Amino acid sequence: MRPPLARTPAEAHLYMDLHLCSACGDRGFVGDHTVVFAEGELCSRHSGYCTQCGAERSYTFRLPDEPRLSLERDVVFGGSEPSELLDAGEWLLVADLAASRPDGDDEDVALAAAAIDEVLKFVPPRSRRSGTGDSHLSTIRSHTTFRVWARVCNCVGEPAQVCITALLAGGAVDAFA
Ligand SMILES: [Zn+2]
Repeated sequence: MRPPLARTPAEAHLYMDLHLCSACGDRGFVGDHTVVFAEGELCSRHSGYCTQCGAERSYTFRLPDEPRLSLERDVVFGGSEPSELLDAGEWLLVADLAASRPDGDDEDVALAAAAIDEVLKFVPPRSRRSGTGDSHLSTIRSHTTFRVWARVCNCVGEPAQVCITALLAGGAVDAFA
């Protein structure tokens, strides 16, 4: 199977942070990475151990054709194309977690904003204008509150508002109840 694309190292690390150990179900991974050829494509392979139970874990991600230089100070997970690693629901979860940290700082807000930008990439351009359409939400694991959304929207401005309008119109409203 073709390994999924990790658009940036930040996206690869976020994916590994979010995914649970298949042996113990906990989070936590330490390891190293090397560049390998897999399925004829240049990939980055992360191999290491679960920090909780010691089980071996390994992840292989396709490298982008044109690596993004991380000169930007803002949090950036990828270009304009939607993520192959996390779906819209998982990005919502990331935004929710980052925006609702009680002792959150500017970095948390920047992370939440970047995650909302990633949700927006799943909303078809037509839906952004009309406020309708499907939302690609398959793994909502968190009940995001409107209070949290309001905070994120205030920070990132109109694109998030447009995104949320489209998501709600697409029938995802129950996920936020
Ligand atoms: Zn484990």
